[in-house]
Amino acid sequence: MLRKVVLAGLAATAVDAFTAPTGFFGTRQAPAAKINSVKPVSARTQRVNGAASLRAAEATKNKLPASVKPGVVTGQALVDLLKYAKENNFAIPGVNIVGSNSINACMEAAAKYGGPIMVTFSKGGGQFIAGKSLPNKNDEASIAGCIAGALHVRAVAKQYGIPVVLHTDHCQKAWLPWIDGLMAANEDYYKTHGEPLFSSHMLDLSEEPLEENVEICKKYLERMAKCNVLLEMELGVTGGEEDGVDNTGVDSARLYTQPEEVWYTYQELSKVPNGHFTIAASFGNVHGVYAPGNVDLKPVILHNTQKYISEKLGGKDKKPVNFVFHGGSGSSLEDIRYAIEAGVIKMNIDTDTQWAFWDGVRGYEAKYHDYLQGQIGNPEGATKPNKKYYDPRMMLRAGEEAMAKRLIQAAEDLNCVNVL
Ligand SMILES: [Zn+2]
Repeated sequence: MLRKVVLAGLAATAVDAFTAPTGFFGTRQAPAAKINSVKPVSARTQRVNGAASLRAAEATKNKLPASVKPGVVTGQALVDLLKYAKENNFAIPGVNIVGSNSINACMEAAAKYGGPIMVTFSKGGGQFIAGKSLPNKNDEASIAGCIAGALHVRAVAKQYGIPVVLHTDHCQKAWLPWIDGLMAANEDYYKTHGEPLFSSHMLDLSEEPLEENVEICKKYLERMAKCNVLLEMELGVTGGEEDGVDNTGVDSARLYTQPEEVWYTYQELSKVPNGHFTIAASFGNVHGVYAPGNVDLKPVILHNTQKYISEKLGGKDKKPVNFVFHGGSGSSLEDIRYAIEAGVIKMNIDTDTQWAFWDGVRGYEAKYHDYLQGQIGNPEGATKPNKKYYDPRMMLRAGEEAMAKRLIQAAEDLNCVNVL
């Protein structure tokens, strides 16, 4: 069932996302120089398709767990999915979204690359979904917006035929009321549906001392475990700036997590009954995109940490920790793949898809500039109406298409192509 969808998705990839321009871009000839911001990626397509057939062969060897079905994945199915990712050396794209356009672009991309996706709400993204005019003093808009976005995903995810993980991004200590609100929603949803509304939440207490970080995470994990929500926590600090949190000036030693810190955390969180967690350990990663040479990524830290903890646990499981990779934008493919080999099962993507969405809109405006200067009148005549050009769906769709295309590239980087 799932497999069929994947193959159909890949066929669609070759036809509409790459070879033939879709929608509005295809209807009119535009100056090539102006639209090549949305580049046809034929060389990469071939590599994607090559990688896809390779993955298909491998995937048959190691089958997708039966618990993982199209739609939102929570609880044991999520645990199975992450295990499957780790065993098959791929990571799931975790993408920050800001509304139904970026949410749908995520699912469109996942259907085309044939893999799971993690739709990720930030506190600011949730507020944006609820509406920027709303008061948000007690995070009420952020909570309502995240819930609305999650329900949107739940309403349509199955139609895309892919497993979707509903996740939230960084939550520092002062923002915990936001997660409290979402946990209340999870508990409510659990009562009716036997599963939580969200699959997982991230807590980022990395600014606090290690003991306090782990203590708060443990307390939350106890609550989460009761309704099958998975916890993502952060050790060390991801540098750079994201969603209003500025870590650009942080002491560089904190950008590299020590294996002992991960081991301590692993032991403490493993004590929680039914507690499932992933760890964002810093290894020099930085939010945002910087000129080459400014980021010193050391994924070997993750390898060393797995080895250290594996030995502590008796050596049977070589990769006991589920790592997640923040601040991956602009990283080399070598670093990304090496991190995946160390048990990274998800990489966050935000900056690159923000650019892609904008670039799609930019390309649309550049192509139809002369049709977008007034409601009436364009190069075809002074009385010609422009309604079909300035309909907001046209530029938003251009953004969606560009974002989905960028995500297919991300999935290729993460070995996440045709893994269902
Ligand atoms: Zn992050």
